[in-house]
Amino acid sequence: MAQPEYHPQAPKRKACFRCATLSLRLYRVRHDAGRQWDFVCDACWPAVAKDNPFYVYGGTWKGTRHKNTSPDANSDTPNA
Ligand SMILES: [Zn+2]
Repeated sequence: MAQPEYHPQAPKRKACFRCATLSLRLYRVRHDAGRQWDFVCDACWPAVAKDNPFYVYGGTWKGTRHKNTSPDANSDTPNA
């Protein structure tokens, strides 16, 4: 009966590699000749992608997880 140390549904945040802003949604991109992926925020994304021959879009990262039990349920009510 151990209590988990975190809330499974608590949203996570990542820091934008460019402006270091923590965000719930970031874009996974390559932006240089290296093979590593970085996460860029909504605001920085256009600047990173523009005129960048190395730019590759690798998907969207979200800190909030979808509930597997009801994929199309619109139950976005706050827990209050
Ligand atoms: Zn940013």
